[in-house]
Amino acid sequence: MDMGKVEQLQEYVSNAKRIVFFGGAGVSTESGIPDFRSVDGLYHQKYDYPPETILSHTFFVRKTDDFYKFYYEKILLKGAKPNAAHEKLAELEAAGKLTAVITQNIDGLHQKAGSKKVLELHGAVSRNYCMDCGAFYDEDAMLSFKEDWQNGGSATPHCPKCGGVIKPDVVLYEEGLDQRTLEESVYEISHADVLIIGGTSLVVYPAAGLIDYFRGDHLVLVNKSATSRDSMADLVIADSIGEVFSKIHV
Ligand code: ZN
Repeated sequence: MDMGKVEQLQEYVSNAKRIVFFGGAGVSTESGIPDFRSVDGLYHQKYDYPPETILSHTFFVRKTDDFYKFYYEKILLKGAKPNAAHEKLAELEAAGKLTAVITQNIDGLHQKAGSKKVLELHGAVSRNYCMDCGAFYDEDAMLSFKEDWQNGGSATPHCPKCGGVIKPDVVLYEEGLDQRTLEESVYEISHADVLIIGGTSLVVYPAAGLIDYFRGDHLVLVNKSATSRDSMADLVIADSIGEVFSKIHV
């Protein structure tokens, strides 16, 4: 690890008053949650469709059972734990230095680490609603539906109150982002003095567009591989986000 760069990040963090963190899949993969966008051979062997097709609105409506089989195996995973990046971000918020975490992840690990202001651009596995009566189901309820399926029941979860199909409040392909979450994200980014972007190559909508609202002092990119905005950043650290944050003190 380039310690000179970590020291530079430490200096930015120490002097900052309104840090905003924008995170992508790489933040979660370090907690063992696979990035479903990185299509590998395993997916192709096991599933008849690419993840982008399975996780689309049309597919959810037409092949709900197949959607849920994929969702249960790849998305709704029990026992994932926050890593050093989640922990440090929660500490920075508690210390009054960080105003918001904006994430493309749906796993709720930032909240599990203690973060309060988390803007979830793509929704959350912790929120699920019956499409007929609107009844709410949390992550534990969904895990127990998953268990029913593992024990030979149907994959599609049905509302115990009315029999309707339950849908996760996650943004599927073909679906629009929540407008209020987007507006809040724009507000936070445009008022930040330091914007740290981690675990994303910035190609997934709407990441690249959102960071254009940043007009603060320092733009920092932490990602294992190069991103489309490296040339715009004040600091680029090509390393593990968890390891980098574990070296930063609040
Ligand atoms: Zn219902």
